[in-house]
Amino acid sequence: MDLFSKLLHSVSIVDEKSSILYIRSVLRAYQQQSPAHLELALEVHEFGGTSLDKERAVKRHSSIVTNVLIEGNSPKGRISVPLTCLIVLIERGVKAGSIQCKVITYSQRAQLLEQFLSFTFPVIDTALQQDTLWHWWQNNGKMFNWARLPTELKEHVIEYCVHESHASGVYSEKLTRFNQRYKSHRRIRKPGPQEIVQQLGDWFQLLYVSHQIRAITLRLCIFGGRGLAYANGLCLVSSSPRSFAACLNRLGDYYQMVEENSVPTTAEEEALSKCYGRFPRIYPELHRYATLRHGVQKISLGMDFHSFMHFFKVQAGGFQQLQKPRDPTYEVFERMPHLNEIVIQLPLRPHGGWKNNPSAGRPPLFHYDKPCPRILHRLIYERAAEVLAPYEKVKLRNFIDGYERKRFLKAREQAIEAFNFTKVDLEKLYADDGGGVELGVTEREVGLPAKAKHEDDMGLGYAGDVQGGFFPPLCYCDDHCALSPALW
Ligand SMILES: [Zn+2]
Repeated sequence: MDLFSKLLHSVSIVDEKSSILYIRSVLRAYQQQSPAHLELALEVHEFGGTSLDKERAVKRHSSIVTNVLIEGNSPKGRISVPLTCLIVLIERGVKAGSIQCKVITYSQRAQLLEQFLSFTFPVIDTALQQDTLWHWWQNNGKMFNWARLPTELKEHVIEYCVHESHASGVYSEKLTRFNQRYKSHRRIRKPGPQEIVQQLGDWFQLLYVSHQIRAITLRLCIFGGRGLAYANGLCLVSSSPRSFAACLNRLGDYYQMVEENSVPTTAEEEALSKCYGRFPRIYPELHRYATLRHGVQKISLGMDFHSFMHFFKVQAGGFQQLQKPRDPTYEVFERMPHLNEIVIQLPLRPHGGWKNNPSAGRPPLFHYDKPCPRILHRLIYERAAEVLAPYEKVKLRNFIDGYERKRFLKAREQAIEAFNFTKVDLEKLYADDGGGVELGVTEREVGLPAKAKHEDDMGLGYAGDVQGGFFPPLCYCDDHCALSPALW
């Protein structure tokens, strides 16, 4: 029983004011049956005055006649219907004390107001307008029992929210303004965990609702899904070591917080969280401390020659002595337990041509007359084949020619074989020794994997032990490889 009915039930007479209130309450009840009823947008206007039902008024003010205009959406468009309403306070029987409203239409037929409404204003079978559902829930005073929905349904609801890209909306406007304001400031860090937030658009506040909603929402953002705009989940695309490092640091600043006590508050918890941060594969039981960085699924990485050689810790020609300890190396991949695809964009011809950057301590990579990007590519991709063997999907792009691609695939095949062999071997050893063997994983101290020794059919003559005079390598390729169109 709504407020108006209560009010009317508490009176023993009907008058002009209460009769209009009653008609409104009937309209409200009619419209709250469903969102489609709400879209009828019914309104009542007083029209032509009120008169007492004289016969009954003699005894008591228990009925009244009111003229009103009822306006609303109908299949013919918006219409207004004049009505004469007889409002009666029932005095006897089981319904004593309640009010009834009969209407007399032009055809002089009398019917209950409820019947008149369903006949004159039936629901219209069209798609609901955007905010109707929201208004309907707001008006009907009921609570939607979200908590009792099965998890699968909750997932569907949240998936529906994030299923399309958000090219418009408050978030996208803010982002556009931010980008315009800081266009010239390349060093400005991107705001917050943008890789996640941009998937959600204006729905990003779902992350603040509860642990459970946050967990479902983050799961969709991190792992993606077929029906989603970001089907591949959390992917990073980076074209320089600096932007890659910035992105990793930024995502590493935000805990996933999908369960309770997942933010460290004591020194001990802080230590555990750092432990998981660095070694998520070794301590999976600490996964409650996962940050957004731990959720990365795919990485596409581009860099210049020097940076890639540093990234993969190329050791040929003594390159490893010139490592820049601050920049990330391929070892960061080990901190991403869900990483399932790595795309490496081998470096192309530098913008300024094959010129060495005379930065302190860097070995020159390009010979002044005959630079050989083929050798440099090989230094990078052979290391990539070796150190990325544990990862299932690894793709390299921008090979100089098909021969180099095949060479890489062969190197990768061999590296995977070696990796699997070592893995099985170590597991056996570990089992034999009751788990007491320390797994001394040492990095092979070669710039090129072992196979280079027998694969060196191009007469290039480089090897891991060459130190002085290796850089810059000289091009002995049949066609000068620096001119290859594949590098432009
Ligand atoms: Zn060459």
